[in-house]
Amino acid sequence: MKKELLNLKDKIVVVSKNRSINEIREIYDQGFRMFGENRVQELLSKVDYTPSDIQWHLIGHLQRNKVSKIIKLCSLIHSVDSFRLLEKINRESKKQNTITNILLQVNIALEDTKYGFNKNEVLDTIKKASVFNNILIKGIMVIGPNISDEKMILDVFYQGYDLYNKCKEIKQHNVCIDTYSAGMSNDYKLALKANSTLLRLGSIMFEKDNV
Ligand SMILES: *Cc1c(COP(=O)(O)O)cnc(C)c1O
Repeated sequence: MKKELLNLKDKIVVVSKNRSINEIREIYDQGFRMFGENRVQELLSKVDYTPSDIQWHLIGHLQRNKVSKIIKLCSLIHSVDSFRLLEKINRESKKQNTITNILLQVNIALEDTKYGFNKNEVLDTIKKASVFNNILIKGIMVIGPNISDEKMILDVFYQGYDLYNKCKEIKQHNVCIDTYSAGMSNDYKLALKANSTLLRLGSIMFEKDNV
């Protein structure tokens, strides 16, 4: 793994989808503690076979009928993409006597292929969510557009950062904005430039070029 990535340990969610327990263990042994999965079943299948101090993040689309299974296992859900899902997470969290940390996924580039809120819905959604006592809204998650133009990608990440700062101005009992999740293997340098606080890195973490 590149040395640069070791230095970013506190910001990296290691995306371990399609990776084995042994591969996860190798990265864990280098000091990484945040791991992310995009499917509930896969996350569930790994939790019992990996070190218990791993903080698991859910980064992929979450179906409402799977919420009850994972809220207690996840330290952060990045991919809350509808108000109905938010409502469901709140209700299940109340049942299970917990408070669930979440990010709102925002579809800034308005790509049809992506889940998420439109940029202009986010502030109102947070305010409407003030009735939910069993969630804590920590910030937003953005997926960079699947294009090669770096200036346009950077622009999307900066738009996300602006929105993140606007969210920070909301004073509400269940809001504590400190997380801007943006950046994957291909575009994490651009995301860092735009002040991302969490990178979701998969392929680049498992490349075998040693430090
Ligand atoms: C797979 C995935 C990643 C990691 O992608 P890489 O290109 O392998 O770094 C990040 N975020 C989400 C939502 C993903 O599904």
